[in-house]
Amino acid sequence: MNYRKQFRVSPGQKIRLGDIDPSFTGADEKKESAHQKLKKLHKRMDDLQFLLYAEQKRSFLICLQAPDAGGKDGVIRHVIGSMNPQGCRVVSFKQPTSTEAAHDFLWRVEAHAPGRGQVAVFNRSHYEDVIVVRVHSLVPAAVWSERFAQINDFERRLVAANTHILKFFLHISKEEQLDRFHDRLEDEANWWKISEADYTERERWDEYVVAYQDAINNCSTEHAPWFVIPSNCKWFRNLAIAEIIVETMEAFHMQVPAPHVNIADIRQRYQHGR
Ligand code: AMP
Ligand code: MG
Repeated sequence: MNYRKQFRVSPGQKIRLGDIDPSFTGADEKKESAHQKLKKLHKRMDDLQFLLYAEQKRSFLICLQAPDAGGKDGVIRHVIGSMNPQGCRVVSFKQPTSTEAAHDFLWRVEAHAPGRGQVAVFNRSHYEDVIVVRVHSLVPAAVWSERFAQINDFERRLVAANTHILKFFLHISKEEQLDRFHDRLEDEANWWKISEADYTERERWDEYVVAYQDAINNCSTEHAPWFVIPSNCKWFRNLAIAEIIVETMEAFHMQVPAPHVNIADIRQRYQHGR
């Protein structure tokens, strides 16, 4: 199956997260073979990123959104980790600082948009401003509801500047989230990850689902698609995302740039006698 087609939300499509099985692991995928496939995809991703860096023609932006314990950090480590840090930056968006909050919501995001030859991975993103902000009524509905169109315009502007955009929602079940919180409580090495807010936010699960759905349905465009990735199973999540990233980058049809110097001439003048 082609996960790039299967998990993409088409423009105009109205998905309901409740209709999508977060435990899906592919029609005939197995953990062992998935691991082998992921290894190959890592190699391919590394080569493609090298080309993107060498070409200096385009940028690539990957946005990750998920509930708490949804696996954003895991995706960054196990999928994006194969890229060369020289051309890849991870940006984590937290609660806005007072300076950030004094500006339009896209101000802090735009500052981190990837330049030519660069990949940027957003761990949370401008979508927080229509998700957490909505669930907690941090701005009036009249303000956040305008933001879908503003986000689409912003992303279109990045695309016009030759940025490719992919957005992944890591879809886990409420039970899986509780299991993961529980695992964290059981493992001293993970205690630092736990906050009381994880549990209080969980009480608003249904409100978050509505906010995620609306963000995805309003902002999955031809130029910047959303993908809803079944993420209860970590190996499947990693495989699906790696495959989508690699297939997307393959479609850029990148080429090693032509030299800016006369190679034959340099060989003859400086390599003579070697
Ligand atoms: P973490 O990713 O667990 O370190 O937490 C970051 C926190 O910052 C989360 O609770 C987010 O919901 C919150 N956050 C991120 N962006 C915004 C925003 N624009 N407005 C309010 N809270 C935000
Ligand atoms: Mg957290």
